[in-house]
Amino acid sequence: MTEERKKELRDNYLRVAERIDKAVSKRGGDRPVRLLAASKTYPAEDIIYLIENCGLELCGENHAQEFVEKYDAVSNLNCRMDFIGHLQTNKVKYIAGKAGLIHSLDSVKLASEIQKYCEKHDLFQNVLVEINIGDEETKTGISKEYLPEFLDELAAFDRIRVAGMMSMAPKSDKIDEIRKYFRESYSIFLDNFTKKRHNTIEPVLSMGMSDSFEIAIEEGADIVRVGSLIFGNRNYNK
Ligand SMILES: *Cc1c(COP(=O)(O)O)cnc(C)c1O
Repeated sequence: MTEERKKELRDNYLRVAERIDKAVSKRGGDRPVRLLAASKTYPAEDIIYLIENCGLELCGENHAQEFVEKYDAVSNLNCRMDFIGHLQTNKVKYIAGKAGLIHSLDSVKLASEIQKYCEKHDLFQNVLVEINIGDEETKTGISKEYLPEFLDELAAFDRIRVAGMMSMAPKSDKIDEIRKYFRESYSIFLDNFTKKRHNTIEPVLSMGMSDSFEIAIEEGADIVRVGSLIFGNRNYNK
């Protein structure tokens, strides 16, 4: 890796970390926020650089194949790798038992596939339920109306630990609009995840990306998922 790239990664990462600290202070209270580096399309060596030089402890991939390609190198350095994208049932075998957290549980079918894999290999898997907060047809995630019933259904899967919720706000240039969705997400999170169910653990709320992480923190996020601000704009045609 060039010295120039190292400097760019380090500067970007430290700038984001500083902005997170500021937003956390602004929010007040003592709930910490974790930065998840969303590393899709960027090589493992970028993540490794950030682990070894900047204290990165959490990263996330949204495609099974990329997850597999980077997992060994990253997890050997004690950095947790999460799965943050839509997970197809036939890809569960590559992800379950490896991802610290699957952020995107969105169907009973996927839950039963995870359960089956975990039973077979004697594993447990922490997951977040993904909510489609803007009810967008093009987005994955379940509707907020279905959430209570979905959580009841998940109680049957004893290999799955429900660790909270992930929310994706619709794309918007308007801060107030984004804030409205995050605020609603936090309220749904409080209503549904802070009551104890038998297979839930200390719940977290994953929301906010490069263009919105500070608002997400102010509105109650525990994990923010930041990609392009750390690694640069993605080029999918490389
Ligand atoms: C890529 C990705 C992110 C990060 O997006 P940026 O806008 O690059 O910060 C967050 N969450 C998910 C699910 C992603 O796929």
